Amino acid sequence: MSKKVLIVGGVAGGASTAARLRRLDESIEIIMFERSPYISFANCGLPYYIGGTIKDREALLLQTPEAMHARFNIDIRVENEVIDIDPINKTVTVLDIKRSTKYEESYDELVLSPGSTPIKPPIPGIDAKNIFSLWNIPDTDRIKNYVTTHNIKRATVIGGGFIGIEMVENLHDLGVEVDLVEMADQVMAPLDYELAQLIHSHIHSQGVHLHLKNGVQSFSYKQGVTTIKLQDDTSIEADMVILSIGISPNSELGKLAGLNLNKRGGIIVDDHMKTSDPNIYALGDVVEVTEYISGDRAMIPLAGPANKQGRIVANNIAGKDSIYEGSQGTSVAKIFDFTVASTGLNEKTLQRDGHVYGVDYFVSIIQPKSHAGYYPGAYPMTLKLIFNKEGKVLGAQNVGIEGVEKRIDVIASAIRFNGTIYDLQRLELAYAPPYSSAKDPVNMIGFAAENILDNSQEVLLWRDIDQLDLETTVLVDVREDVEVQLGRINGAIHIPVNDLRDRMSELPKDKTIVLYCAVGVRGYIGARILKQAGYTVLNLVGGYTLYKHYSKDYTNPELSPTESLVKEEVGLDGQKLHVSPVISANLEHAIELDACGLQCPGPIMKLATKMPELTDGDVLKVMATDPGFPVDAEAWAKQTGNTYVKSAKEGKSYVSYIQKGGRPNQANVLNQGNGSTQVVFSGDLDKALASMIIANGAVAMGKEVTLFFTFWGLNILRKREKVEVKKSPVEKMFGIMMPRGTSKLKLSQMNMGGMGTAMMHNVMADKNVNTLDDLIASAMAGGVKFVACTMSMDIMGIKKDELIDGVDFGGVAAYLGATEASNHNLFI
Ligand code: FAD
Repeated sequence: MSKKVLIVGGVAGGASTAARLRRLDESIEIIMFERSPYISFANCGLPYYIGGTIKDREALLLQTPEAMHARFNIDIRVENEVIDIDPINKTVTVLDIKRSTKYEESYDELVLSPGSTPIKPPIPGIDAKNIFSLWNIPDTDRIKNYVTTHNIKRATVIGGGFIGIEMVENLHDLGVEVDLVEMADQVMAPLDYELAQLIHSHIHSQGVHLHLKNGVQSFSYKQGVTTIKLQDDTSIEADMVILSIGISPNSELGKLAGLNLNKRGGIIVDDHMKTSDPNIYALGDVVEVTEYISGDRAMIPLAGPANKQGRIVANNIAGKDSIYEGSQGTSVAKIFDFTVASTGLNEKTLQRDGHVYGVDYFVSIIQPKSHAGYYPGAYPMTLKLIFNKEGKVLGAQNVGIEGVEKRIDVIASAIRFNGTIYDLQRLELAYAPPYSSAKDPVNMIGFAAENILDNSQEVLLWRDIDQLDLETTVLVDVREDVEVQLGRINGAIHIPVNDLRDRMSELPKDKTIVLYCAVGVRGYIGARILKQAGYTVLNLVGGYTLYKHYSKDYTNPELSPTESLVKEEVGLDGQKLHVSPVISANLEHAIELDACGLQCPGPIMKLATKMPELTDGDVLKVMATDPGFPVDAEAWAKQTGNTYVKSAKEGKSYVSYIQKGGRPNQANVLNQGNGSTQVVFSGDLDKALASMIIANGAVAMGKEVTLFFTFWGLNILRKREKVEVKKSPVEKMFGIMMPRGTSKLKLSQMNMGGMGTAMMHNVMADKNVNTLDDLIASAMAGGVKFVACTMSMDIMGIKKDELIDGVDFGGVAAYLGATEASNHNLFI
């Protein structure tokens, strides 16, 4: 006798089970229950119908009950809700919603694919009529209807997951001003924070207001407006609110049937998708699955796994032995111009499970182009790979404009086949200039990862750079001058990578050298040069670009919207730009410069090279595919005395208009710096006085002053009292012969056995001139940085404890770093 199979849920998992089952066995009786009026609809397309990208509502309905019945001979009962299961007698109770009647149906095998439901926590005011969740077609109709009939100007989306972010974009596309509130410190949970920051930047650049690390306290509705009170006590007003803060599995039926559930209510299944009851299968959002890489149990609610599990359930019911090996969470989303995709484990999960960076796993980040740079339309992407010490690939994340998901799909395949970073290197992927590079980004990330594992480059992560101890490390910026003008990491000295071979003697060998460039490539080249010359070198992963994003607060409303792309004509201050008629006229005749396909610093270098060819007043229109270019161009214009007019989006290009001239050349001001530096070499009283007088004067003028005490100058900093420290006999001799502190310093001339020096002290007292101690104290109070040269201290046997409090210890590199921001440098 043929089997009778009941299926609960008629969308992703349920419908694919039903269709496969029929294809395998014509004789099985299949009944599919769906409580809503629709089966097999495109959940994933719902936000785009609301935003208008999908115009035709019918396009969302992939299958009608009638069509599916005609094709597959399945008894489809919409608006029929299964409300109970009797696993002993193998029956279900069904509520016919339209007729409000109940009936029973028996089964041989039961399949549960009831999906999940958006979470709606008991927040005061959450039932207001302008607060919505998006999950199915009726939700979509309600939201679309409200948007069209209520003249929505401002909306708030609560929750920065996939659906929340898609709704942000779609509401924004409708011309609505959008706030996005997220309780965590980042949106898009599958990403690690530093990649999520790229998304924050992009969302911010569209004019969306981001509220991170902030939950909702309450909602209050009044005359069409809901006021959302956040946990930090600030409030947002919105004409409508979309709640998208997570989902919970629809496992009530499983509970009623006594099936084994996990803590989150997920139904536990074996690798055949069978529940703890031998005649009940479950799949889709409602089940707990095996996380493919770690082997841990997890809830991974995605359409791909649900559909594939449907095939496996059907196979097993039809007598095939079919196993589900687990989900790895491969996902992709469109966020305005960006595509964000990921697969496998992220660092957050690894760390949560006790795995340690640098021991249990490693990371590499590269920023390659989507295809050959010389072919138009190449865009940069930020690709992160996580792998273990054997080279096994654990996960990947990618953010960019083109070719993003293609790379993640390749890496997802590698993970499926237990691939390693060496496999990624070896993959032979399709190449022609419009599609990729001869070494595809996937190959490249494999190479970069190997460089880390075989120690040909040691790396430092963006998150560790602010904690660098500049006493033991020297931070070197190896970018070109024009890039450095646009910003750099505090404390870095600047040696362009091409100068590194000639200038490496400036770098101490007893310290760790940390190199950084824009994205990590030149840093790597520099690291190889220095490493082969015997230095200990680290290269900053992801370079300055990633660090810059990592350390920026995109929730700050003060942050200029030009931080990436200006849609309106606004300046750095966020105010609308007054575009003079002259500029407007010149805009039409702007000279075009194509910097598409070039990656930072390419576009800015091209701009800097082109500008001298123009005459004052000319406007240059620069097209770039690097999304960071408008920010760089604006900063560059400001630094170089040119006028940044506006930026705009043309297709997928970022266009910046810059007029030649029209502003004071900030670069000159900047290059001169506002610092004052001195090498205090001498330990003579008069020279020490001169040094302190200049330092105090410079502070009074608002300058940042650094004094670098070396050799005899160190004696100025010695404490008067004898300090017990361990010294070699030679060091002790030095200590005895050298003056201990300011009171023992002598005049450089006319000392006359100490008489001249004593006279000088008297004259200074008579004339009310501050003593050297007073001058030192006031300089320190004014913020003058006293740096004792550690190399000289070592030679002269002076120990840290012997020097007065408030002194920093550093090497020549720390001092050279300060000189770069200085407009004069004295040797005393
Ligand atoms: P569903 O497809 O949700 O189907 C469950 C069905 O069961 C529902 O129609 C429900 O009405 C019905 N049901 C529940 N209980 C009963 C009952 N007792 N009796 C009868 N019927 C019942 N995933 C991706 O991978 N990529 C995306 O881009 C993506 N975008 C999404 C966008 C939106 C707006 C939404 C809502 C989801 C999105 N998803 C996406 C998630 C994906 O749709 C789900 O993971 C997938 O549909 C889960 O399949 P399922 O069969 O478990 O549940």
